[in-house]
Amino acid sequence: MTETTTNAAPAQPAAADQPVPFLDLQAQTDEVAPEVRERWDEILRTSAFVLGPAVDRFERELAEHTGARHAVGVGNGTDALEIALQAAGIGPGDEVIVPANTFFATAEAVLRCGATLVPVDVDDDYLIDPQDVAAHLTPRTRAVVAVHLYGQMAPVARLREVVGPDVLLVEDAAQSQGASRDGLRSGGAGDVAATSFYPGKNLGAFGDGGAVLTSRDDVALRARRLRNHGGVGRYEHLEVGTNSRLDALQAAALSVKLTRLDGWNALRSAAAGRYAALLAEAFADVPEVVVPREVPGAVHVWHLYVVRVPGRAAVSEALSAAGIGHGIHYPAPVHLLPATAHLGLGPGTAPRAEAHAGEILSLPMFPGITAAQQERVVGALHAAVRTARAGAPGGRDRAVVG
Ligand SMILES: *Cc1c(COP(=O)(O)O)cnc(C)c1O
Repeated sequence: MTETTTNAAPAQPAAADQPVPFLDLQAQTDEVAPEVRERWDEILRTSAFVLGPAVDRFERELAEHTGARHAVGVGNGTDALEIALQAAGIGPGDEVIVPANTFFATAEAVLRCGATLVPVDVDDDYLIDPQDVAAHLTPRTRAVVAVHLYGQMAPVARLREVVGPDVLLVEDAAQSQGASRDGLRSGGAGDVAATSFYPGKNLGAFGDGGAVLTSRDDVALRARRLRNHGGVGRYEHLEVGTNSRLDALQAAALSVKLTRLDGWNALRSAAAGRYAALLAEAFADVPEVVVPREVPGAVHVWHLYVVRVPGRAAVSEALSAAGIGHGIHYPAPVHLLPATAHLGLGPGTAPRAEAHAGEILSLPMFPGITAAQQERVVGALHAAVRTARAGAPGGRDRAVVG
């Protein structure tokens, strides 16, 4: 940094020097804030803070958007998963199959229900692999959790063929609001689904929130009870539930944001297209850099844009130094975490997911990311990968670079 003394306005740093955040929610927030404030004023006037009209309204709107008959608003996505599983009757003695690469909450919910966690491998699109699901079916298999990871739906139709009519298909739709595949919509494709409104999700609240989605009346009713101390009415306790209700202020904000979701997803999709073009050009001769694809028949909503890179630790360090936000989703598969060590599932349980975990890298992605920001990301990634390959033992560019 050079200091100059001049009367002129300070020069803007060149665009190429500006950091790129991993996620920037400010434009979204600014866009909806006036409408949200109006709805919040109404709630402040009526003191309808817990459940009430704002939650009812959002539940109806969300159900319509997903094609599920019922939406039940709950406190967060993790509770949504646990309540969805419990409402569908999952408990001790039941085996529940989950993909090995997912956010820990997917596995946590299964374990909190007292069920047996059965992690299986993922396919080349990072989604639960139906063939490996088939290999893990037993007479005790009660459910399969299809995690629609990174914004792309798992192969739900294929999973149904593989598991038959009697195993429950549970969707973890936390990352896939607005996605579809083979004509099935995220949240409306299985027996029951859970979604999250954590602020960074495609449909994010201004705090925590979640929902259970289902077209089964019995499951919806039970989810309504479980979120409210085991009963729908006050002091009605038909079973042991919990307190996990969607906050009315969050529901009101989500109603406003839901009207923008499809447009925001379209912006993400356009950004993904730009990344694809930029990365294809930058890494035309580097096959180790793997870019994500939208599978045929799917509408991907690009919650995350995940590439695979050689020498990820060095690449990540170089990106940080260049001011490029990035993430790793996720650093370890669910069976190789301290919290699941007691299950005794070692390396080799899900070889593809385990290999991916060492190479995946999530690039900045949010509605409104600019082409200039994306060029900067890909430029920095190109430099980082070159440096990493040069530094790696046997790196191909070793003799050329440095
Ligand atoms: C975010 C997320 C969850 C949990 O949602 P919270 O609202 O943070 O509890 C569960 N599963 C997946 C795949 C997620 O991305």
